[in-house]
Amino acid sequence: MKLIEGKLIAEAVYAECASEFAELNAAGNTPGLAVVLVGDDPASRAYVGSKERKCQELGMHSVKIEKPADISQDELHAVIEELNADDAIHGILVQLPLPDGLDEDEVILCIDPAKDVDGLHPVNLGKLAMEDPTGFAPCTPSGCQRMLVESGIETSGKSVVIVGRSLLVGKSLALLMMGKGEGANATVTVAHSRTRDLAAVTREADILVAAIGIPRFIGPEHVKEGAVVIDVGINRIDDPTAKRGTRLVGDVDFDAVAEKCEAITPVPGGVGRMTIAMLMANTIRACRLRADRS
Ligand code: NDP
Repeated sequence: MKLIEGKLIAEAVYAECASEFAELNAAGNTPGLAVVLVGDDPASRAYVGSKERKCQELGMHSVKIEKPADISQDELHAVIEELNADDAIHGILVQLPLPDGLDEDEVILCIDPAKDVDGLHPVNLGKLAMEDPTGFAPCTPSGCQRMLVESGIETSGKSVVIVGRSLLVGKSLALLMMGKGEGANATVTVAHSRTRDLAAVTREADILVAAIGIPRFIGPEHVKEGAVVIDVGINRIDDPTAKRGTRLVGDVDFDAVAEKCEAITPVPGGVGRMTIAMLMANTIRACRLRADRS
């Protein structure tokens, strides 16, 4: 069994980012990312902190905007409009989920598609479906695809089963993997909570992706011998033996499944590492695309 280490692959992405950054910076363009955090969710705060730290490490311009959970929809739109007009900002990320009462779709619609480095604006999702390379693909799915490519795992002609159909992960990854480029050309099945006999479906997979949100849901009965398993899940569970009393696990029961796999991603240290790396890569590309236009 081979461990697909997101940490190492993310380092390769950062090395590319650093050289691209140096080139842009030398020409007077400093990539800038704005992250908008609404409310006080501790997990969201931690994610925003990691993104900010990574920007700083790469030398990028980074802005964090914090707003209270009771901000109105219009006030939040005004924040986005200001960032849309700010020339120092090339990427805008609104940390999701937003607190109850705010309409996420409306907020995403406000983001200038050229700055939508999270890839969730309908223009970018349309470009993803059209395989238009000027768009931005959502970071977690493109991170999964990059892990497969960097690990030398053939996807062309392979049967890929994705469990989970969210726009953020499952549905977007399906579009990427059924496309024609590198790390694609797969025959993709998307399963979800209404799928009948899920284990029979997932056992068909050469590459199985779990994006469900239920701790250790995928067990050995779901996995074909010799399959590649990509675990997108990040779930915090109680663990009295851990220092903080909790720990992170994926959607895959790693210990029970690993021995059946040709390759598998760990949690933590797997897909999660790639998500931020792809966000940085998208922001630098947004800066490059703007520089090329002007
Ligand atoms: P969502 O809750 O939006 O989607 C979960 C999907 O799983 C849904 O399509 C749902 O089906 C499906 N599902 C739920 N229960 C079952 C079941 N019993 N059998 C089959 N399918 C089921 O979650 P996300 O896509 O946003 O996230 C999925 C996981 O990935 C989470 O653990 C999340 O924390 C993690 N994540 C990790 C990221 C990273 O950077 N590594 C980034 C984003 C998410 P239905 O549509 O029918 O309800």
